[in-house]
Amino acid sequence: KPENMSDCLFCKIRDGLIPAKVVYRDDMCVAFEDINPQAPTHVLFIPHKHIPTVNDITAEDRELVGHLFTAAAKVAQERGHADPNDGYRVVMNTHAHAGQTVFHIHLHLLAGRPLGWPPG
Ligand code: 5GP
Ligand code: ZN
Repeated sequence: KPENMSDCLFCKIRDGLIPAKVVYRDDMCVAFEDINPQAPTHVLFIPHKHIPTVNDITAEDRELVGHLFTAAAKVAQERGHADPNDGYRVVMNTHAHAGQTVFHIHLHLLAGRPLGWPPG
């Protein structure tokens, strides 16, 4: 069962207290459209469990974190991005230099345009 971090934006989205365009939900995660999309597909996958950063992931979270990837791959597949001629990126930012702004881990799914590498 999720912790209720009352000051956490993504806990509020998880609980439906702040509206979001939810595209996928199951017993472990919720996925919703990013409010400021950086690509035609930009979906965020969050665990129900409030984990602030990748640094806070523990061994007991292994299934949960792996689950975020399978959920992201499922949505990518549904939107045609699993095609080798298309493609997608999944990424989790941690702390200042990586640009983390919300401290409830979220896997970004980005797709629908060529994505530069390395990122800026
Ligand atoms: P970060 O920079 O922490 O890796 O990513 C946070 C993401 O959350 C950003 O891409 C930002 O656009 C998105 N975001 C911030 N506030 C909201 C919100 O209220 N609703 C939604 N759907 N996305 C948000
Ligand atoms: Zn949270």
